[in-house]
Amino acid sequence: MSNNENQIFSKGNLLPENLSKYFIGRVYLQKLTDKGGPITNVTFEPGSRNNWHIHHKSGQILLCIQGRGWYQIWGEEPHELKQGDVVEILPEVKHWHGAAKDSLFSHLAMEIPADGSSVEWLEPVDDEFYNKLS
Ligand code: MN
Repeated sequence: MSNNENQIFSKGNLLPENLSKYFIGRVYLQKLTDKGGPITNVTFEPGSRNNWHIHHKSGQILLCIQGRGWYQIWGEEPHELKQGDVVEILPEVKHWHGAAKDSLFSHLAMEIPADGSSVEWLEPVDDEFYNKLS
């Protein structure tokens, strides 16, 4: 699949190994700015997604810019995401986000600055569950 021509922002590079172990599939990162809270362009190839995780102390905002994807909070139904959707993720909420199985998906990830913030990476999203999403 050709990914670049419709991208608004630079796609960047495949995840480094210290992050890719917490993702399934091929995902690209491009840091756009470090001023204020960091903003990163994250591009998920079809079928790719991150593991369940928790942003401790710092919230996260996703600005969806291309394709179709999913976001799910632990214990809730998944939400379909498309271009123009804005997702506000509160600190301490277990969740995952990523592409639909048949679509590229990209979002900007904005981290709300907070002292002592961290990400806790947890288990992968269940394949059987993910593959039923449509
Ligand atoms: Mn997140």
